[in-house]
Parts: sequence; C-alpha cells; structure tokens
Amino acid sequence: MAPSRDNLSAVLHKARDLRLEQKELPEPGPQDVVIRIHKVGICGSDVYYWHRGRTARFVVQSPMVLGHEAAGVVETVGSQVTHLRPGDRVAIEPGVPCRLCPICKAGRYNVCPAVQFCATPPVDGTLTRLYRHPADFCYKLPDHVSLEEGALLEPLTVAVYGCQRAGVGLGSRVLVCGAGPIGVVSLLTARALAAARVCVTDISPSRLEFATGQGADGTVLIDGASEEELAGRVVAALGGPPTAILECCGAAPSVRMALQAAAPRAKLAFVGRGPPDMDLPMVTIAAKELDINGVFRYANCYPLALDLVASGRVQLGPLVTHRFTLEESESAFQAALDGRGIKIMISVHD
Ligand code: NAD
Ligand code: ZN
Repeated sequence: MAPSRDNLSAVLHKARDLRLEQKELPEPGPQDVVIRIHKVGICGSDVYYWHRGRTARFVVQSPMVLGHEAAGVVETVGSQVTHLRPGDRVAIEPGVPCRLCPICKAGRYNVCPAVQFCATPPVDGTLTRLYRHPADFCYKLPDHVSLEEGALLEPLTVAVYGCQRAGVGLGSRVLVCGAGPIGVVSLLTARALAAARVCVTDISPSRLEFATGQGADGTVLIDGASEEELAGRVVAALGGPPTAILECCGAAPSVRMALQAAAPRAKLAFVGRGPPDMDLPMVTIAAKELDINGVFRYANCYPLALDLVASGRVQLGPLVTHRFTLEESESAFQAALDGRGIKIMISVHD
C-alpha cells in the first residue's frame, strides 16, 4: 500500500465552526505509531465542543481536531516499537499520561495531572486520516473484532472502569441511571460481569426501549413522580435495593433517587457530568454507609474491554445507529446533537 499523502482532518476553530482541512503528515517518534484512522465514534464531549466551543472545564482557544473514540490500521512504526507492525489493526486509548509522576507510578494514570487526552483542548483528536500516537496506548485487535468495535472500546472502557468503581460482580443488583451510550455499555458490562439484575432509568421512553432490547431486566421511566416513588419502582424492578449504581446522566434528582433506593453499603460510581454542585442527602449516605466513587475516564481497562468484545460476552455492533463519512462530519455532529439514535460513527477510511 502506497503511503497516503492526504491528511484531511475535521478541525474545530470555534463553536459551530468546523472545517475540513489538510493537516501536516505525522511522523512517528521512536516509540510512536502512525495510524491510518478508519472509524471514529462521536461522544457527547465532541458535540459540546462543536456546539458550544467548550465543556464545563475546557475551552477551545485554538483550532483543534475533534474525536477520541478511534480505531485504524498501523501505517508506520517508530524505531523502538516492537509489539506493533504496519498493517496491524488497533484501537487507540486516547489519554496519554506523563508515566513519571507518583500517580502514574501507582497505576492511577487517568488522574495524572499532566494527562493529554485526544480532543481535549489544546490536544488534537483522531478525526483525521493519519494520526500519531504512543504505541503503548494502542491495542492490537484480533481479526474477528471489527474496526467499529475497536472505536467503541473507548466508551466500553468507561463502563468497565465504572463497574469496577461500583463494585459490580456476581449477583449484584445494578441500577444504571441514564440510557445514553454510556448507560447502555454499562448495562452490557454489568451483565457480562454476572450481575443478578440490571435496572435502567431514563426520561426518554425510546432510550429505555433500546435498553430493554440490550438486556435490561427492568426499566423505570423518570416521569415526574417523586424521588421516593421512583426509588420504590427501582427496588421493585430489581427485586431488592441496588447494591451497585452507575450514575450515567449526572442529573441531581437522579443521584438523589439512586441514593434513596440504594442498599446499605451500596457503591455508586459517579460517571455522569451534571452541574458542578448538587444537594445530596448526606444523612442517608452516612446512615447506609454508601460509597460514592468518582469516575474520570479509566485506567488499565482497555485490555479488559477488548477481552469482553473478543470473547463475545459484549456485543457492541447494535449500538451504531447512524453512519457518516469524514466529509459529512458536520451532519454527524448535528445528528448527535439532535439525539438521533445511540452511537454515531464516522468513517474516515472505509
Ligand atoms: P447522553 O446525554 O447520551 O445520555 C444521558 C442520558 O440520561 C440521556 O438518555 C438522557 O435522556 C438521560 N437522562 C437525563 N436526565 C435524566 C434523569 N433525571 N434520570 C435518568 N436519566 C436521565 O450521554 P452519554 O454519552 O451516555 O454519557 C452519559 C454521561 O456520562 C454524560 O454526562 C457524560 O458527560 C458522562 N461521561 C463521563 C465520563 C467519565 O469519564 N466520567 C466519560 C464519558 C461520558
Ligand atoms: Zn503522571
């Protein structure tokens, strides 16, 4: 295959100003690979940047390539790379830490203060034909795992880490709040981890219907009933109070309802991003000895997520409901903003 000279990229200049531009061709450093990107999933944070030029913490101040859920084919490898070679199909773990600080050395590299994450300003993302990345943050895909599945490993990895933080395991009664892509992959992961029952909540009946199709044992529509009433419905759907909670919407009433429903000693993984402050029932938290565990992306979970997919225990294919080409990126972001389907996938190369 002749090396490509085309490096068309989806570059966000400011809110609602996304341009398709040629970027410089990347050269690998000694420990890097250059990847011909094939598939990039769109995540809520990409949509925020595109729509508003910012998320809660980060602001786009200079042009930035969007996208961080990506997979592709290795084109060239740096001189010191031994575990990958040209032609390998890989998933890209998008957050690269410093590897040197005490936090990295303790294995908690997701909260390294110096972590650089694709498409988090000012770091360029993966919606580009050719992309350079450290080889040790690339995972070779077995032949039977598709490049779309490779791209979807990123949100799945959030769920794997979330399930770890919520203590999901054999026999858990799991509450997943929010049936967006992250809630759905959390449901799939909890099932793969042998949870006894999984109940999913949402304000959208169509999203709950999708969750039921993906194996939810019960769903609760958040319909304006009191938090107490909704907590009762959750307990009924699970056949008992939840022992593990994955909060995947970030809405304060959802968190309060989940804490009200929780079993004593339950663990809540706080995945969703909502308002920076919220009122929580502290006496309930103390009296039931509830553990609230923050979730910031993931650490050491890509291999586990890949194993769930490669072994067939988690099937990600049905999550992709809409597909676009790189040239159609603007329409892809609009579809994501409109909340169409579950996961929007962009084909950068077929
Ligand atoms: P999404 O917006 O597609 O899904 C959120 C879902 O929550 C929607 O279906 C919405 O209808 C539902 N919802 C809204 N209010 C609700 C309520 N009161 N009760 C129950 N459901 C309610 O987002 P997503 O891509 O699935 O991501 C979920 C959340 O996780 C987002 O807040 C996102 O920012 C966050 N996130 C966090 C991390 C992390 O590292 N912690 C990583 C990825 C995403
Ligand atoms: Zn570090």
